Amino acid sequence: MEGTGATWPGRARLASAEHTSLEQRLGALQLVRLAVVVLVVAAAGAVPGELGMTLGQVLWRSLAYLGVCIGGQLADMVWQRSGRGLARPHPGAPFQQMLLPVDPVYLAVLALPSGGAQSDFILLFTVQLISVTLLASPRAGIRLAMWDSVLLLAVTWFQLGGPLGTWLGTPQVVTPSTGAVVVRIGGFWAVALTTACFSALSERELRRSKAHLDALTTMAAQMEEAMESGCEPEEIAAILLKGVLYPFAFKQVAVIWEGKEQPLAARFVAGLDGVVAVQAGPPENGPLKSAVAVRALEANLPLLVRDLAGEAGPALEALVPGATNVVVVPLKAGREGRGLLLAECGPPPNRRMSRRSLDMVTRFAAHAALVLRNADLKAEIARLAASDPLTGLANRRALTTALAREVARSVRTREPLSLAIMDIDFFKKINDTYGHVAGDDVLREVAGAMASNVRDVDLVARYGGEEFAIVLPNCPSEGALTVVERVRAAVSALPTVTRVTVSAGISTACGGTGGGAEDLMAAADEALYASKNAGRDRATLAPVRAPGPPPGHPALAL
Ligand code: GH3
Ligand code: MG
Ligand code: MG
Repeated sequence: MEGTGATWPGRARLASAEHTSLEQRLGALQLVRLAVVVLVVAAAGAVPGELGMTLGQVLWRSLAYLGVCIGGQLADMVWQRSGRGLARPHPGAPFQQMLLPVDPVYLAVLALPSGGAQSDFILLFTVQLISVTLLASPRAGIRLAMWDSVLLLAVTWFQLGGPLGTWLGTPQVVTPSTGAVVVRIGGFWAVALTTACFSALSERELRRSKAHLDALTTMAAQMEEAMESGCEPEEIAAILLKGVLYPFAFKQVAVIWEGKEQPLAARFVAGLDGVVAVQAGPPENGPLKSAVAVRALEANLPLLVRDLAGEAGPALEALVPGATNVVVVPLKAGREGRGLLLAECGPPPNRRMSRRSLDMVTRFAAHAALVLRNADLKAEIARLAASDPLTGLANRRALTTALAREVARSVRTREPLSLAIMDIDFFKKINDTYGHVAGDDVLREVAGAMASNVRDVDLVARYGGEEFAIVLPNCPSEGALTVVERVRAAVSALPTVTRVTVSAGISTACGGTGGGAEDLMAAADEALYASKNAGRDRATLAPVRAPGPPPGHPALAL
């Protein structure tokens, strides 16, 4: 499982999660500027003289401001174009960023003749402050609040008759009050700080969502790839575990899956240096029977279990030892596939799981459950394709594959390989006398007797109607005869409707060569017919094939 070779989205990926580009956000800020200018010009036109300026004065100031803004955007376009094709293209939009302090200057110029700190234009300062904080960055918003405060103090000073104010010919419309100035500046900071906090929080959430979605997509792609390359359910579980361990910063995660074909349990632990430890194998003590597991699976909803040992019992706790605050997510697909994902958040002050993260983990689990179910179906199909439905033994196809594999191994290792073909004697008579159903029962019982009287390494297959084959790796002819005689004795002792006997033919290839799988089959078949012709209920050994030269070395002619 460790060596799946897949790459995982790590912590670095979280940090680099891309969201709306700076260029796009600065472009939106240009629209805000245009809207402010339109509003100011419309106000100057609607209530002439109210702003302390003529419409013409407002117009030329606004046009100059718009010109600077458009100039900044054009300068950025030229700058970015000149960087195209370079190994490191010019980043960002530096000239539009330089416009950020220009905006309040335009507003200050408008506020100066129309009441300073008491001017209605102060509202536009706030609008601009919020826009910059949300669209540029929270830090830019705080810097702008500082700059706005300075400008407001300057406007107040000019109104009090400072030299620049006199030079600008500022009419002293309203005597500035210290209270109004303090309230305005305080307002700027309150707006900037609350908007910055909100913006920073939502941006962090956005980054996390994006990182989680990326991780989900990566995990889905890895699972798909794994399924295509015919991987085992353990690998799917490993992809799920690693897929949730890093993006959600769990301390340890484990999966239990009870598929129709293969139950499994796998565990990943976040190590000190990011190394993961793995445990895989069948789940012991039926952890899915614990009350917590039953509750999660019945409700099909994730549960947060604070004390797993106390609430869920030792079977679940063994998978995530010593875990606190464990999220138990059900894995359900179809009627047969079911399991659990266990993820430890850790002690309370360190980690609290948000509803959104929990939803995301549930999505990871739902996807993995489907893939695990598919892996299970694939395994079931492979098993059915290789087994005989009546007896449950390997079928002829599986026999051919196994025999070819064993012949190749015998050639490589120079170990003897034996093959026995066994045929029930007078089986037609059993069918004719007791019926096909009884005949089927006999076939099943004979198959059982054969399977339970061979070595673990031997393969028993149903070769044809009432013919069976046994592949005996690393077994000389005498050993094969012993096994076959044991099998024959077991079959004849079966409590079937009538005593059943079998005839057998055994062929052996010694130390490789001597022909391939087909020759071995043909020789065993010939020996079987010899047994039949000699009166049945016996085993015959085919002549043993002499050891051949090692592969690639032609035999020396003597
Ligand atoms: P021998 O001793 O020469 O082997 O005689 P035999 O009667 O066993 O051989 P024969 O080839 O004449 O008959 C085999 C019979 O096995 C014929 C067929 O109807 C029966 N048979 C084949 N497959 C099945 C099966 O799946 N179920 C049942 N009940 N009978 C089967
Ligand atoms: Mg036959
Ligand atoms: Mg027969």
